[in-house]
Amino acid sequence: MTNYDVIIIGAGSVGVPAAMALAEKKLKVLVIESLFSPGQANNKKAIGGIRATHSDFGKIKVCQRSIEIFGTWQEKFGDEIGWIAGGYSFPAYTEEDEKKLKDLMKIQHSFGLNIKWISPEEYNELVPGINMDGLRGSTYSPEDGSASPLMSMNAFYFKSLESGAEYKFKENVIDLKMNSDKIAEVVTDKGSYSADFVVNAAGNYGREIGKIVGMDLPIYPDNHEAGITEPVARFFEPMVVDLRKAPGSANYYFYQNHEGQVVFCITPDPPIVGIDNDATSEFLPLCSRRMIDIYPRLTNLKVRRTWRGQYPMTPDGFPIVAKTKEIPNLINAVGMCGQGFMLGPGLGELISRIVTDELSEDDKRMLKSFDQYRDFSGMEQFK
Ligand SMILES: Cc1cc2nc3c(=O)[nH]c(=O)nc-3n(C[C@H](O)[C@H](O)[C@H](O)COP(=O)(O)OP(=O)(O)OC[C@H]3O[C@@H](n4cnc5c(N)ncnc54)[C@H](O)[C@@H]3O)c2cc1C
Repeated sequence: MTNYDVIIIGAGSVGVPAAMALAEKKLKVLVIESLFSPGQANNKKAIGGIRATHSDFGKIKVCQRSIEIFGTWQEKFGDEIGWIAGGYSFPAYTEEDEKKLKDLMKIQHSFGLNIKWISPEEYNELVPGINMDGLRGSTYSPEDGSASPLMSMNAFYFKSLESGAEYKFKENVIDLKMNSDKIAEVVTDKGSYSADFVVNAAGNYGREIGKIVGMDLPIYPDNHEAGITEPVARFFEPMVVDLRKAPGSANYYFYQNHEGQVVFCITPDPPIVGIDNDATSEFLPLCSRRMIDIYPRLTNLKVRRTWRGQYPMTPDGFPIVAKTKEIPNLINAVGMCGQGFMLGPGLGELISRIVTDELSEDDKRMLKSFDQYRDFSGMEQFK
């Protein structure tokens, strides 16, 4: 049996950047993936939004690093990954939302984030033709942006191969054999492998992997749908996140990608818990009605495709990233909720520092936000 320094279960938004960061450190890495190529589960369902403007130290720091990686990728390595620093915006149409956003901005400023409050007129310059009726202003964080989940995954995958990472596709992890308190063997439907560390980056199935070794990780995937339009000339800059609720949905968000296509997504309310990848006929009328209401200029755009995927949710909206107490060679990196694509590159590096025992004080503070042993009673703002 070949021994690896690290085996990663899952070649998704987290597993592939983690393999890239670990292989870069000259560690011998194997990624085991049940599907036929990298990024085929939730990574390719993401619409590509990337922001550092969260509400807690962990996500902010990890995503700031992710933004550096996404933002400098093409310049450093030459691959186009569709990065645009178009910014994020949360327009407020109610007094309550304005207050919530302004209160959150105080926390965000205390972490040094570049986010400001802009007037309805200034917002109309960024998103020309936005519905001004009742608009009270908007947050705007110009350093946030977007990239193509498909192109980024490809770039990270090939980079990890260059650094020596190995992959086994179409191979399903079915068992983890223990030797005293450590995982001694990762067993798949095709073979067995051993490693000094095992990283659970199994996305929707993070809980199932945990169960194999007697851990009950609170990961509950719920379904989200998204869509993409034909490409048109660029006509607005930032991601627009409308926080208001409407019958059948909570927030929704959309932006124009590097090819001019408008990509959009809505949060069903109540959540549709489970894993069901069949797109529905309800999503498009529900989402497009709301988008056209806030931004009438979208009216004549033709939608090319819709799809459905999952957010691997935790009860409080924060991921679980931890070297486990019970099994010292198991690292869980699961429960990415709706933000695994943006967290991936920063988390990949953090995971590599867990493995090599090079955690800085900041890293330890970040990991507190993602602690597996927290009580999950808090709630991430705007998850
Ligand atoms: C509609 C939609 C829009 C979204 N938009 C955004 C966005 O704008 N920005 C953002 O950051 N995030 C977004 N997300 C969320 C993002 O897609 C997820 O958070 C992220 O992909 C989760 O990453 P992951 O690595 O945990 O899981 P995945 O990317 O799903 O990877 C897990 C991998 O593990 C494999 N696996 C599981 N079990 C096993 C096993 N037993 N053996 C071998 N392999 C296994 C799976 O096949 C899979 O490939 C969106 C999601 C959806 C559905």
